[in-house]
Amino acid sequence: METEQQVITIVPPMVKHLEQVWRCPVCRSDLKLAGEELQCRRCSRRYPFDANFPVLLADLEDRFDDESEPERDLHEERVSAFTMEHYTLPLITRLFPGSRALPLRILSDGCGVGVDVEMFTAAGHNAYGIDCGNRTWIWQRRSCPDRLAIANGKRLPFPDEFFDFVYAGCVIPHVGTVGDSAEVALDYNAQRLAFVQEMVRVTRPGGYILHATANKLCPVDPFHIAGPLPWVRLHSPREPFLLSYADHQDLFIRQAGCKATELLPMAGYWGFLKKSNSVAGRLAAQMMGLHFNLLSASWLSLFRSSPLNPWLIVLIRR
Ligand SMILES: [Zn+2]
Repeated sequence: METEQQVITIVPPMVKHLEQVWRCPVCRSDLKLAGEELQCRRCSRRYPFDANFPVLLADLEDRFDDESEPERDLHEERVSAFTMEHYTLPLITRLFPGSRALPLRILSDGCGVGVDVEMFTAAGHNAYGIDCGNRTWIWQRRSCPDRLAIANGKRLPFPDEFFDFVYAGCVIPHVGTVGDSAEVALDYNAQRLAFVQEMVRVTRPGGYILHATANKLCPVDPFHIAGPLPWVRLHSPREPFLLSYADHQDLFIRQAGCKATELLPMAGYWGFLKKSNSVAGRLAAQMMGLHFNLLSASWLSLFRSSPLNPWLIVLIRR
């Protein structure tokens, strides 16, 4: 006996915001749902879905092959939630006073596991996240699947001047590298400028951009572990991989035309949640926390751009 086959069409969650938010990453025109894909209304490029998340990439080579493994990604969820609760959400309230009741348009550019987008949304904001790495498997856990897309920061799938606040956590150093390494490609400067120009393009005039990253001038980098030591990466203060505060000023102000930059205090950003088994590891984390709190004091703010500070949090006014 033949049974009638039921065809179930699942509409991907992001379609909810298709007209207001998402754009073709190549020509920035509107997208429409065409069968099981998205299609640009102007250039006709087609974009597939991967596990219900749109793949808004101009080129499949725009994916980033970062390290992803479940235990590490779940740890990143906790780290990211800590930073949101203790740093980013309070910062937003300070940056946009009086607008607490208004939903702000926020982009997490390189959102990784996407827990930040979830928390911004829970706080009543109109937040979106993109990432082109391998941690997107964890997006299945998010309560805001309609707000996440696989895309590359060098070609953002959003309209001009759309966001009030655009931020990235240590993303620029990983633009223009050879795979997920600290080695840069020949055209890394051009790739980083393209990334910055896109951040600026989608931010409204008067809006803010935030980029946090390890400081190039500090030879001790505890955030990109590679090499013989278990807790830090030692490097030259002239290496091309990381950025200094002056590099941020050059990229965002001189090259991309933003108005102003400022280095923010670091206290509250890192929770140092890694459960180290060794006493030495725990002690090192505590000392780093104390060091960050000390450099966050306003009377020491001049030292924030110096080699004494391993972590820069740069606020940029568009
Ligand atoms: Zn197009």
